[in-house]
Amino acid sequence: MKVLVIGSGAREHALVRALLVDPAVDAVVAAPGNPGIDVIALCVPVDARDPQAVTDLAREHGVDLVVVGPEAPLVAGVADAVRAAGIACFGPDRAAATLEGSKAFAKEVMAAAEVPTALAHVARTEAELTEALDAFGAPYVVKDDGLAAGKGVVVTDDRGAALAHGLACLAKGDDAQVVVEEFLDGPEASLFCICDGQRVVPLDLAQDFKRVFDGDEGPNTGGMGAYSPLDWAPEGLVDDVVARVAQPVVDEMRRRGTPFVGVLYVGLALTSRGPRVIEFNVRFGDPETQSVLARLATPLGGLLHAAAQGRLGEVEPLRWREQASVTVVVAAAGYPASPSTGDPIAGLELVGDSDTYVLHAGTAAGPDGTVVSAGGRVLSVVSLGADLDEARERAYAGVAKVELEGSHHRTDIALRAARGEIRTPR
Ligand code: AMP
Repeated sequence: MKVLVIGSGAREHALVRALLVDPAVDAVVAAPGNPGIDVIALCVPVDARDPQAVTDLAREHGVDLVVVGPEAPLVAGVADAVRAAGIACFGPDRAAATLEGSKAFAKEVMAAAEVPTALAHVARTEAELTEALDAFGAPYVVKDDGLAAGKGVVVTDDRGAALAHGLACLAKGDDAQVVVEEFLDGPEASLFCICDGQRVVPLDLAQDFKRVFDGDEGPNTGGMGAYSPLDWAPEGLVDDVVARVAQPVVDEMRRRGTPFVGVLYVGLALTSRGPRVIEFNVRFGDPETQSVLARLATPLGGLLHAAAQGRLGEVEPLRWREQASVTVVVAAAGYPASPSTGDPIAGLELVGDSDTYVLHAGTAAGPDGTVVSAGGRVLSVVSLGADLDEARERAYAGVAKVELEGSHHRTDIALRAARGEIRTPR
């Protein structure tokens, strides 16, 4: 099988790496890819959001399967175009991708499917916005309705900041809307559900770290690190979330004539009243994917191909490595507000064995075969260990070898879990 992977982040580097160890996969092409992917697969500089360009590339290389990494190509209709050309695609059509593209739509589907989630109001005017803020009270949760690369959500006790964010979202256009919702207490978990339009196969749980600084301080980012599995999660959580969230949503999307094929990423808060959905994404999460795929022993290509072809019923139960995995993101100076780019990166060749490796994200080829920074989240170091302590030790030893001026990373990824400090409220 030949696979085309769309995207250019560490998530796509992890996908390409996992696909290449599947004996059924002969070759992987990436578009546009990045310098790390370029070492192991063919990278082609194609605009990932251009449905025609992606379809032409898939045809040209005779691929059997297209795997779409990020949300923007899905919302732009890349999967529709690829499928229309008769090529299997892992990723939802544009209509189904609206589950991520519009938080208001996601809330509507959740209501129809009776999925447990935060109560919410959708506001279209300043008056509706202030009314919603006062109805829920502090802490305020205010979400841009549209795509915002994980940065459209403000959670704050400061009513002025909540109002300012809401007004900024409404100022984006005449049909702009903003979602104000009830604050959900309790630890968060991410569950990736592989869907074939009808059936659901869950991967293992992971947790990510959205805030930029240690101790969950500072603004939200695209994600600063992750780990898997979650030994602290309540028993039966995965089955419960499939039964109460993923399967009802897949059924509802099918009923609406927009079947969901791809990853339904369920972001959960484990509250005292049980699991509540914080958000849906319609693709693998970054950086959780890096940690989850490090542990997946089932060949990835066969699994995604089966999902793309509506054959998940034929898939054997998934197998997992016993080890724990930790992913630490190294971010550029100034991230997330104003990341520095073009800075040389050294030491990458010093990190690398089967248990610890670097995945590229915001990197670019520099002069004379060097690599320079080219984005906010520059790279991830992923490690496997017998337990979270060992995986953390290895990941941070890898991070210490990477030289990038002004770069920063969190030092507490998986720390509370390793210490057994995470509890779900009762
Ligand atoms: P989202 O983009 O919807 O995932 O939100 C980003 C982050 O904001 C989440 O990972 C949570 O940490 C936080 N968040 C979102 N919604 C809520 C909520 N209703 N209650 C508490 N925190 C939330």
